[in-house]
Amino acid sequence: MAIASHRQSRTFLPPTSECPLDPSTKDRLTEIPSPAYDVVVFENRFPFFTTGGADEPVPSDDGTVVTRRPGAGRCEVVCFTSDHDSSFSQLTPERVRTVVDVWADRTETLNALPFVEQVFCFENRGEEIGVTLDHPHGQIYAYPFVTPRTRRMLDSAHRHRDRTGENLFARVLADEQRIGERIVASNEH
Ligand SMILES: [Zn+2]
Repeated sequence: MAIASHRQSRTFLPPTSECPLDPSTKDRLTEIPSPAYDVVVFENRFPFFTTGGADEPVPSDDGTVVTRRPGAGRCEVVCFTSDHDSSFSQLTPERVRTVVDVWADRTETLNALPFVEQVFCFENRGEEIGVTLDHPHGQIYAYPFVTPRTRRMLDSAHRHRDRTGENLFARVLADEQRIGERIVASNEH
């Protein structure tokens, strides 16, 4: 588990008139120095991980086998639209495509950093799970390790390939299509 002790004083739900993800106006400078935008990405001012630190794990000083390492990695904020009152689901397909292209671009760039092992793009919505800004936005975590769930999925896929020679995900998809009970929607893609 990763816990960031340095981020307990971050901004919590500022009023809409002070939203830092809105475009800047002549009267108010926000995080985004532009009068309008489609998509904006910037490094989180209150990152869970920070860039830098030693590459090697540091032995714990209580003599246990547990190791610690400085927080290394990167957190980025992706603003989906300059419209504060919109949401990802309200974007046109063309604008959604722009966001997806940004996710792909940032994933490729962050994956190329030497300390990054996994990149994860996601959106949390709702105050209940700790979202501190109403503005439509998501985040990108570039982890300095492979997260446990991804590690288990990769292990399962490798075991399945070793045992059967086939791609686990292609097999799951083929099974679902054959049975047909859980398909919500489908098209030629
Ligand atoms: Zn806003």
